Amino acid sequence: MVIDIHTHTFPDALAETTIPKLEQMSHTKSFLSGKGSDLMASMQKAGIDYSVVLPVATAPKQVLRINDSSAAINEKFQETGIFSLGCMHPDFADYKQELARVAELGLKGIKLHPVYQGVDFDDIRTLRVLDRAAELGLIVLTHSGLDVGFPGVVHVTPAMVRRAIAQVGSVTLILAHMGGWRCWDEAEELLCDTKVYLDTSYSLGMLHPLGDGFYSKEQLPMMQEEQFMRMVHSFGVERFLFGTDSPWGGQVECVRQMEQLPLTSEERAAILGGNAERLLHLSELRGM
Ligand SMILES: [Zn+2]
Repeated sequence: MVIDIHTHTFPDALAETTIPKLEQMSHTKSFLSGKGSDLMASMQKAGIDYSVVLPVATAPKQVLRINDSSAAINEKFQETGIFSLGCMHPDFADYKQELARVAELGLKGIKLHPVYQGVDFDDIRTLRVLDRAAELGLIVLTHSGLDVGFPGVVHVTPAMVRRAIAQVGSVTLILAHMGGWRCWDEAEELLCDTKVYLDTSYSLGMLHPLGDGFYSKEQLPMMQEEQFMRMVHSFGVERFLFGTDSPWGGQVECVRQMEQLPLTSEERAAILGGNAERLLHLSELRGM
């Protein structure tokens, strides 16, 4: 079974304006249109059973509407294989009640994006969200490290994650992009003895540049395969979850990348889907 734990879709009309805007910001090219139908076609091509959509609330006023549309996405899960987590913004005043609603809606967890939300991961506003999520048994998946769309802006480093988990209860935390995009040495050094999960999205291989000459050749490579393999073995393979960041990564390309890594077949199966299934129980949901 293959589960892509890190994807993004937008309502059709929004996709048409949002994707070009994000392409310009990041100087990278999207692999897809950002529409759900396009993600389904891509899953079919890549042999991906389920994709998990991660919605980002860039302002508190978006939270309710996004959680409603996440629940609507999940109503079609039987046909689409696309499952959406919920969202939260650290400045959302009624976070306690809204997180309870997220749990009631069966969204299983939330996505945080400290860079887009402008709040540090060890800020008290984030900590209270993590605490409440832990209390409700919600998973928290957060962007981590730098963001290709915001050069130089860091609101979530491995050191901040360490400080945060020292303060909150036993929250199930997934750090995107192998623990910290372009902070990989720090992630390797500081996160090994924690219980956090890491998703593999947007980490291996190269940036997918827009072709506007913004990036030099030296800026394109991301994490080295040696470091990826070293982390899998020092952290433990059960802590890694396959993700693509689709549409910013190609699902076909990312599955191929996993197939080419020097993993055992058990390790590969765990990363590609076994670990995520243990966390999310998506097959059970589909069987219902
Ligand atoms: Zn993402």
